[in-house]
Amino acid sequence: MQFRDLGAQYKVLKPQIDEAILSAVGEGRYISGPQVKELEERLAAYVGVKHCITCANGTDALQLALMAWGIGSGDAVFVPDFTFFSSGEVVSAVGATPVFVDVDERTFNLDPVKLEEAIISVRNTGGLKPAAVVAVDLFGLPADYPAIKPICEKYGLKLLEDGAQGFGGAIGDDLVCSFGDVSTTSFFPAKPLGCYGDGGAVFTDDDEWAALIRSYAVHGKGSFKYDNVRVGMNSRLDTIQAAVLLAKLDAFIDNEIAAVNEVALQYNEALSGSALILPYIPTGYTSSWAQYTVQLPGDIDRDALQAALKERGVPTMVYYPKPMHEQGAFKGGCVVGSGGCAVTKRLCSTVLSLPMGPYVAEKDVAFGANELIAVLDC
Ligand SMILES: *Cc1c(COP(=O)(O)O)cnc(C)c1O
Repeated sequence: MQFRDLGAQYKVLKPQIDEAILSAVGEGRYISGPQVKELEERLAAYVGVKHCITCANGTDALQLALMAWGIGSGDAVFVPDFTFFSSGEVVSAVGATPVFVDVDERTFNLDPVKLEEAIISVRNTGGLKPAAVVAVDLFGLPADYPAIKPICEKYGLKLLEDGAQGFGGAIGDDLVCSFGDVSTTSFFPAKPLGCYGDGGAVFTDDDEWAALIRSYAVHGKGSFKYDNVRVGMNSRLDTIQAAVLLAKLDAFIDNEIAAVNEVALQYNEALSGSALILPYIPTGYTSSWAQYTVQLPGDIDRDALQAALKERGVPTMVYYPKPMHEQGAFKGGCVVGSGGCAVTKRLCSTVLSLPMGPYVAEKDVAFGANELIAVLDC
């Protein structure tokens, strides 16, 4: 059993993926080939947003949004304390200050009450200007946008949705990457929609920001490639990666989101009644299940549990072992939201992610769940 079995997907989709890669190589338009434009059009239509701009990875996608908004020194950007490093890294990379805010213990996502408290506190402290919120769709579950959006509007903050793990998720009929003023995703191989290398995309309805992001992504280009009107970066999605994504997209939309939700239900059933706290999906929300993450009882030795499970053939991972505000990279360069981040701290020591993906077999779910319960009880 593998933690994320990308080979299982390749086995199913091999004919169209091989054909897409070979065609792209044969056509020889390795950078900005027609597949890139086609992918952008298909992704924008799928998400229901006017513009999709692909780029080199999900981290660049976030940074491009902040660059287009002109966020930098003196700006405070509110980021959940429980997330992957990139969500906060890009804030520091553009010279702004990340303010880490605690998360909700059931959804693992940004706690709107604590967000508002942190905004007020930064405003009252002076020095930094509240500028934007990065809301992360952690483990595939959309953040609490019905609560977060009005807070952003109330305080005049831009909302950046980090949908790197949430692509394919939804609230009602509204899909992930449609919730932010600008939204981003990642096509890193293990993400819900992954390519065979690095890749990312930015989504927005705003024409002006879309044009700026396109410019920043290609060396700050102006009217043509060798007219450089601003300092940008080199961040493009390769044609081959676009071709791989196009070859995977129908299966992703038509089968894989439903399949991975079926796997989650199987886990829920197999683990119900155990001492574990199972993932919580609010009514009306759909997760794309980048991870299936349980919370262990506080007194369990997680390292020993992982080692025992590994021995029994069940790989597990810890996402994430460290709160963002404790990362050495942010030492002296971040603010912790008022009230601290006690929930994040507890989650970092109790979470455990199990093998997940649309091609995980029912018997493997049963096996993994049984082994976990058996090891927990001994
Ligand atoms: C993976 C990830 C990113 C960064 O994506 P890359 O393509 O690896 O740069 C950003 N935010 C979150 C929450 C992620 O999980």
